[in-house]
Amino acid sequence: MKRHLRRCGECGIPLAYARYLRWYPNGTIIGTDRGRTRLAFLETELINSIIEGISAYIGLDIQPVVVEAERRIGRRFIETIVPSAYVKLGLYRLPRDISVIEPPSRYIFDHVAGLGYGRFFILSYKRRKRMTVLCRNPYSDGMLIGDSLGVWEFLEQKQGAYRGERENGMLRITLMETVEPRPHLEERLIPYAPVYLPGKLDYRICGGGCRLPAFPGKTYEWDLEEGVITDRRTGMRIACVPTASLDAVFRELEEELGQEIPRIINEITRRKVRDFLAGAALGGEDGFREQLREMPLRGFGNPFIERIDDRSCVVRVENPFSPALLEGILAGAASNLWGREAFCRAEKQHGSFSWRYHLS
Ligand SMILES: [Zn+2]
Repeated sequence: MKRHLRRCGECGIPLAYARYLRWYPNGTIIGTDRGRTRLAFLETELINSIIEGISAYIGLDIQPVVVEAERRIGRRFIETIVPSAYVKLGLYRLPRDISVIEPPSRYIFDHVAGLGYGRFFILSYKRRKRMTVLCRNPYSDGMLIGDSLGVWEFLEQKQGAYRGERENGMLRITLMETVEPRPHLEERLIPYAPVYLPGKLDYRICGGGCRLPAFPGKTYEWDLEEGVITDRRTGMRIACVPTASLDAVFRELEEELGQEIPRIINEITRRKVRDFLAGAALGGEDGFREQLREMPLRGFGNPFIERIDDRSCVVRVENPFSPALLEGILAGAASNLWGREAFCRAEKQHGSFSWRYHLS
């Protein structure tokens, strides 16, 4: 059996991901790569609804903004896994063809399939000129085009342009030399290492060989050949997304389009999460508490209910993953709890990585 397909005998999680992902008791999930990428398990429908919802609201396709933000994240991701000699010694100038790049590409493609992004293949490759890849089951066109462009630009050490086309439900991405170089210098992303608050989350560990929380293996079904993760309970598709990606996309949108953006994100998220939960089995306050218990296991941060009654609620979240999204997620959960639109006001706690959410 292929190495990346081996699974834990007890919970069924693919062992390659058991080694890549670390669940911490402070409500974070961190990759073991050099960049210590923080990740969260999110419904792909939520991510795409936000992108489509903003496009519909402003009457413009925002995919280019998403691609631009995600390009830098893709570039940083590949930088952390390629040895530094590649750029320093100019290895990218060496002649190579598709047979040389196929094995390392396979490694990257398996990795992204395991994160639930879809299954990639190389269609054609011309060194430092052009590359075409095909993705079966793409989780989000804009995010994947951005990732691919960032990776291509780093590996070829060139500025690129892209074309993304849908073909029989698949996404075909062509990356090529740009004819319009960006006028500004490439800013280096400063590695951002937040100081997380310590936590002592108490979760059940899988009794099998993986030693991970039992939650991911029990809850999610990984189809590695298709690059699809599914929540077994809801049938919804899930992707394991770097939180920096979401933040970069949201920041870029806010800079380009203005301060309305966080409110729109919040509203779309609230509606979506309420709809997701309306179909779930558990309602009432027990259901609400159960949803909060799940948050740290999905990498959203560590929530504490400070106060709750039948009209309002205060939740403090330590190490929250994306404050604007969390506002919407909590408001959606509270809307489901109270059976009406709930509103959320967030306030950052001074001097620590902690936010307080007032729901009413
Ligand atoms: Zn296990």
